Amino acid sequence: MARSPIIAVANQKGGVGKTTTAVNLAACLAEQQQRVLLIDLDPQANATSGLGVARREGASVYRALLDNGRLAELVLPTAVERLDLIPSELDLAGAEVDIARAERYLHRFQTASAPLQAEGRYDFIFVDCPPSLGILTMNALTAADAVLIPIQCEYYALEGLSVIQRIIGQLRASGANPALAIEGIVMTMYDLRTNLSQQVVQEVIQHFGDQVFETLIPRSVRLSEAPSYGQPIIAYDQHGTGAAAYRQLAREFLKRRRAAAQPADSAEPAAEPPASAAPPPAEPPAVEPAAPVAATAEPAAPLSPLLKRSG
Ligand code: ATP
Ligand code: MG
Repeated sequence: MARSPIIAVANQKGGVGKTTTAVNLAACLAEQQQRVLLIDLDPQANATSGLGVARREGASVYRALLDNGRLAELVLPTAVERLDLIPSELDLAGAEVDIARAERYLHRFQTASAPLQAEGRYDFIFVDCPPSLGILTMNALTAADAVLIPIQCEYYALEGLSVIQRIIGQLRASGANPALAIEGIVMTMYDLRTNLSQQVVQEVIQHFGDQVFETLIPRSVRLSEAPSYGQPIIAYDQHGTGAAAYRQLAREFLKRRRAAAQPADSAEPAAEPPASAAPPPAEPPAVEPAAPVAATAEPAAPLSPLLKRSG
């Protein structure tokens, strides 16, 4: 079996939608027949509670990071078929200090996750990172094949981006993780009613081009309610805009991965628009009908108006 890729969901800025994206993208990929593991690397344990899993002493990666333990033993099933979780708990907060004193402190998570990756049990392993560039996030970035960066549609969105970009560059240049790729940038909490959201998306696209996912995640009360019920959005409000957006993001994620994996000579003919230029609503949905996007009380409109215009 192929080695499982690790995708770190990271942004040192707090509250930008890392956990919401990690939980819901993972759940939607599982729904789309992918075998997914989500590792909660944040002492806040929001991904853990968001999937309805109780905190339990000794259940997090903490021991494995310090004692070269095995991650496979920490894997728990979730209520979502094909989605497993390695939970977090408060002891991870101490890991920042303890790991800093350990040998090869940047590589602890890489060492711990390598056997699980090699087994190839999962199509994707996601890591939900804490809101800092501390030891835990740096460990995730050192182990990761790629980093997925959620950013909130608000002023100063770009400021945080340059910081994490610099870190990614340093990890590559230092040899700590020379092949670290950027999976993409996901714009979250997009508000159709404000010009600000559109301006921010436009600005981010100007700087980062097709690294930006076409799928925009709308601001949705349901998305913010779901974690308190311990459910991903596809269980809590399966026909709402939030569920539709994350399903769309999962399809786009898979499509981009497939396109990237294709050898250049067997790529689609040049006349075809590249994967990232196709307006998402035109694409036949793989799982659910397109109707739910418009079938709720929340603002319903094309998810990527700006990209549509330019494409
Ligand atoms: P932290 O940095 O603390 O780990 P985070 O980056 O993981 O935060 P989330 O916890 O996913 O961010 O989201 C921050 C808050 O915003 C949460 O209360 C969440 O429910 C809410 N939220 C996230 N995405 C959306 C959305 N699309 N619409 C409405 N609320 C959202
Ligand atoms: Mg979080």
